[in-house]
This record gives sequence, C-alpha cells and structure tokens, in this order.
Amino acid sequence: MTHPGDVGPQTGRNLDPWYTSYADRTAGLAASEVRALFAVASRPEVVSLAGGMPFVKALPEELIHSAFTTMMREHGSEALQYGGGQGIPEVREQILQVMSLEGINDASADDVVTTTGSQHALDLVSKLFLNPGDVVLAEAPSYVGALGTFKSYQADVAHVAIDDDGLIPEALEETIAHLRVEGRTIKFLYTVANYNNPAGVTMSLERRIRVLEICRREHILILEDNPYGLLYFDKPGLPALRSMDAENVIYLGSFSKILSPGLRVGWALAPHAIREKLILAVEASILSPSTFNQWVVTEYLRQSDWQQQIEGYRAVYRERRDAMDQALNEHLPQLSWTKPDGGFFVWVRLTEQLDSKQMLPRAVKELVAYTPGTAFFADGRGRHEMRLSFCYPTPERIKLGVRRLANVINGELDL
Ligand code: PMP
Repeated sequence: MTHPGDVGPQTGRNLDPWYTSYADRTAGLAASEVRALFAVASRPEVVSLAGGMPFVKALPEELIHSAFTTMMREHGSEALQYGGGQGIPEVREQILQVMSLEGINDASADDVVTTTGSQHALDLVSKLFLNPGDVVLAEAPSYVGALGTFKSYQADVAHVAIDDDGLIPEALEETIAHLRVEGRTIKFLYTVANYNNPAGVTMSLERRIRVLEICRREHILILEDNPYGLLYFDKPGLPALRSMDAENVIYLGSFSKILSPGLRVGWALAPHAIREKLILAVEASILSPSTFNQWVVTEYLRQSDWQQQIEGYRAVYRERRDAMDQALNEHLPQLSWTKPDGGFFVWVRLTEQLDSKQMLPRAVKELVAYTPGTAFFADGRGRHEMRLSFCYPTPERIKLGVRRLANVINGELDL
C-alpha cells in the first residue's frame, strides 16, 4: 500500500502501511540508546558496565519462596483477583515503613498509589501534567528512562547544571528565569537527588532546602524519583525532599533496587488532589497494578528481615563500587570520575578528544560495554562523558572491564 507522501526509496516509514495514522505524540517515541546496547552487551564474553540491572542473585531465595507460599496459602484468591486502582492497602501500609527510613513519617497509606514500577509512575505523572511544548526541568545529566517518558508526551527538557553536591540552586534559578522570559510553561522539576542515575552524585542537605524554597516560591512542583535512597554505602542517606515538604513534592519509590525489578512494584506518594488524579489515570490505563505481585511484596516484608536483606545488597554494591574506583585509579588515572556514596553508577569525564558514542563499537569489539553520556541529555550533550555501572558484574569482571576500557581509551588517544 502506498500513500501520497511516498517518494524516493523505500524507508522503514513508508514500509509501514499505517504510518500516516499514528498520533502526533508517537514522534517522541524512540528506542533509547541503552536498549540498542543491551542486545550486544548481554553476550557473555562482553563485560557489561552498561546496564543497570540489580544483582538479584544476592537475594535470599528461600525468603522469597516462603513469602510466595504463604501468600498463596493465605491470600491466594485475592491475589488472583482484580484489585483497586490505588493498589492493595496491605502493601501501602508496608510502604510507609520503607519510606520512614527516608525520613518520611507524616504519610498515611491513603496517600500512596501503588504503580507497576516507578517507570509507570513517571508515565502517569507526565500524562497528568505535560502538554506538548511544556518544559520539565531536570538534572544535567538525567535518567534516560525519564527523558524518554517526557519526550513521549512531547515535552521539552531544560537541563540544570549539577556538581558533586547535586543540583546547583543558582543554576536552577537562572534556568527558571530564562525560561520565563521566553514565555515557556514549566511543569515540574524532575530530580534523582540520591546517588543520581547516571551521575552518582547526591544533593546536599543545604541544597535540598534551597531547591525546595526556590520551587515553592516559583510554584514549580518537584518530582522526586528515589529508587536508590536506601542503597547507601558509607553513611545513611539524607532525608528525602518529600520529608521536608508534603505540599510541593511527588515522591516516587520502587522495590526494583531494594528487592526485585521483576516484581514491578513501585509507588507514588502525592498531595491529595494529585493522588486522586493518579488513581484515575491508573484505572484508565491498566485498571489496577498486579494484585499478585503486591501480595508477594506484602508477605515478603511481613515475614522477612528485609532491612537486613537490604544491608546485604549494600555490602555487595559497596565492594563493587570500590573495585571500580580502584580499577579506574589504576588504569585511567588521567581521567576524572565520581565516587558515589550509594546506588549503581559512576560518571566518567573523558578528555575533549574522546567521543564516547563514537568509541562504543570499538569498545564492544574489545569486549567491554558502557553507556555513552549522550543517552542522559535531551540536548545532544554528553559526548565526552560516559556512565559505568558497577551493580551487576562481579568485582573481578569490573576490573577486567575497566582494563579493557583503558586499552580502548588509550588506543584512541594514540591515534
Ligand atoms: N528511576 C530511576 C532513576 C531509575 O534508575 C529506574 C530504573 N533504572 C527507574 C526510575 C525505573 O525503575 P522501576 O520502574 O523498575 O521501578
């Protein structure tokens, strides 16, 4: 089938007979750079420092098994049935305990909406707030999955500079002022304040207070995405932004990194009016999040020492962070990188001659993969930066991967 617009050689576009029918917003749907990488990087001979997969082998299998068995025995018929759009009350009660570890003590289970991972919550919040052409403020760099979601709603991202203490309040003020002069509509500030994906940095307490003040004054909502907050290595994390402002912050949490991403259970804690709209949006898109998986999480949290299990994850990731930091010191001392206090990622700053995107095929040939910095910017920046993940490979594989990476980088510099 052809269309009036079909000219020239066949392209993917005009091979699709429906291409004139798609909604305008699909123009924003593009495979992330990370997705294309996964296929290559998952070959066993490649050391992948690219993905962000939690090391679920560290989970005590018998605990999950026992939670599952109890759940089926005691709540089987509810677990196999539809549930409400807000999520089951039992898991929302448990979520309050998790959030109290982040300093959030004033929430009730009724303020929480369970979602299918926090990626779903990012989509729901975007659906509620973003018209085409609206602006989202976000750290430079920012989580690739959030950038993809904002783009799918045809919003523009204005990046705000960060340093080792996270988002820079003066840069935030300047960006807001600039956008207002241009007459742009700013809808919210998206931030991963703890152990940022991809930068690995954490927003300091002083800055949290300043950022909250600025956003309140400017009437800009904050979307605080906090999947890594409990995965600290050296000292307990800072209080969540939401713990200091219940009115102006939507808080997103997830069991993906502290338990298992396969369960797809996350949550949003939002001011009342927003929560109501979130529930309607859940119902309109998926009716209800998986009752089954929410019950598995509930039983797991009820019957296991889950804080101890998170401590197990911290120990695994701390050792891997150290392995990566040491290997970088040993093999690439001419570069600079972040040393995160938690989370999964190190952000490496390359020299001007190095282009992380261009260099990737060569790295994969040398059997190491990373994520080019360009994945984490909406505006094409990031060529001289890369993200290295230490969450999945063993310390030995991390060292091997960094050694291979150093060969590639040194080879490029010799050219
Ligand atoms: N936010 C951030 C910052 C992430 O790193 C991730 C996962 N990589 C997500 C959200 C999505 O997590 P999930 O949907 O599994 O909860």
